[in-house]
Amino acid sequence: MAAAAPLPFPLRPPHEECGVFGVFGHPDAAQVTALGLHALQHRGQEAAGIVTYDGHHFFTHRALGLVGDNFNTRAVMDQLPGHAGIGHNRYSTTGETLLRNVQPIFADFAFGGMAIAHNGNLTNARAVRRQLVARGCLFQSTMDTEIIIHLVATSLYSTVVDRVIDALRQLEGAYSLVALTQKKLIGVRDPLGVRPLVLGRMGGAPILCSETCALDIIGAEYIRDVEPGEIIVIDETGLRSIKPFAPTRQRFCVFEYVYFARPDSMVERRNVYEVRKRIGAELARENHVDVDMVVPVPDSGVPSALGYAEECGIPFDLGIIRNHYVGRTFIEPTDNIRHFGVRLKHNANAAQLSGKRVVLVDDSIVRGTTSMKIVEMVRLAGAAEVHMRISSPPTSNSCFYGIDTPKKAELMASQMDVAAMARHIGVDSLAFVSADGLYRAVSGVPRDPDHPQFCDACFTGNYPTPLTDYDGSLPEQLSLLTESH
Ligand code: AMP
Repeated sequence: MAAAAPLPFPLRPPHEECGVFGVFGHPDAAQVTALGLHALQHRGQEAAGIVTYDGHHFFTHRALGLVGDNFNTRAVMDQLPGHAGIGHNRYSTTGETLLRNVQPIFADFAFGGMAIAHNGNLTNARAVRRQLVARGCLFQSTMDTEIIIHLVATSLYSTVVDRVIDALRQLEGAYSLVALTQKKLIGVRDPLGVRPLVLGRMGGAPILCSETCALDIIGAEYIRDVEPGEIIVIDETGLRSIKPFAPTRQRFCVFEYVYFARPDSMVERRNVYEVRKRIGAELARENHVDVDMVVPVPDSGVPSALGYAEECGIPFDLGIIRNHYVGRTFIEPTDNIRHFGVRLKHNANAAQLSGKRVVLVDDSIVRGTTSMKIVEMVRLAGAAEVHMRISSPPTSNSCFYGIDTPKKAELMASQMDVAAMARHIGVDSLAFVSADGLYRAVSGVPRDPDHPQFCDACFTGNYPTPLTDYDGSLPEQLSLLTESH
């Protein structure tokens, strides 16, 4: 092959860490969807998109950036007429964010149009994509979601729902999907139920969305969670539930409770805020430290710090103040910017910290960048002792199911033990909640080592599916140029 020209697409397929929303039978489907996506903004801040259908045509608007910055004018919203719509918030840190990778993705099939929005990550996408390319399929993006489109297009089944089932049976990994066709709104959760998806209703209009906070914003009623392995089909005749997959043990992502979901959401019938407080209480029982003050690392550490403080009877105080006008640290793509971002985001409240022995509570340590900066800042502010407690076990493995984590080698806990981490971060002591403590806080029972009740692969390395694309037998690079040669 000739010398490598710059690739038009990122080397690694972007991982999806996203929020999805769908509504059927509402005259202002686009507005309702935009509000829902706004409530789900924490699940993805890089890009957003909406597709609507008005009985004759599909309409779409997709853009890089926040929902509120892109779906905020009459001109944009007037371009999205219709009674049915789906939307997507995208959050990825890998490579460039390209408009071609923004969802929902839309395709015209022999049977009509279909748009899909996906939360999760497929673990055999590259393997399936290879087969599809060999059969002549032409890919337009690097998103694993596009594979679903091609599998639906090439399925030999006749109805759209059977084609979707046929497509999904060939896939491994995590997917909570909403799809829109001329006649139907379809919602699917993978058989393990890794990512959330809930069913709600706004008046007579059914809604499918990632979290209940997206129902609250529009005053919609929460009906129930879509079950793992369930397909919900909504059309003019009503709502139908199908369970076409072989039953399997559920493995909901425990990190949704630790960090990712919004604290006011009900996830799998549990209030995320209460769960986080319970994790903090477990942490205090397991790892008490004699200090003057419990300080959360805002915002993600706040509920668990409250639980910690309540449990051990030590005052809770805001020793660190967060600037809300910066996005989440991880969104910045380079290390330099990430370091800079941490300083932009947090400031020590020196008047509270000076001379005090403090325990900082945060939800997780990933690369350790945040913790190191914060500890340095708190010491500079005059704290007498700085301890740290983390409301999850050490993150020592990458996630392949839709939470964007760095490569294993970049995870601090994969490189050193807790004592070395404490030295590196510069704290007087460091401790993490145990896996059993986390499970007890979430579900009331400890972890079953033979059959873990949740997906906790980031903490334990116990992945609930084969990692077909990541087991080393496939080349690392997914390039449209290479594939087509
Ligand atoms: P780090 O600085 O790499 O150790 O990142 C830890 C911080 O990032 C914690 O304060 C977490 O709240 C936050 N965090 C953890 N996981 C993620 C994620 N997947 N995306 C964005 N932020 C995260």
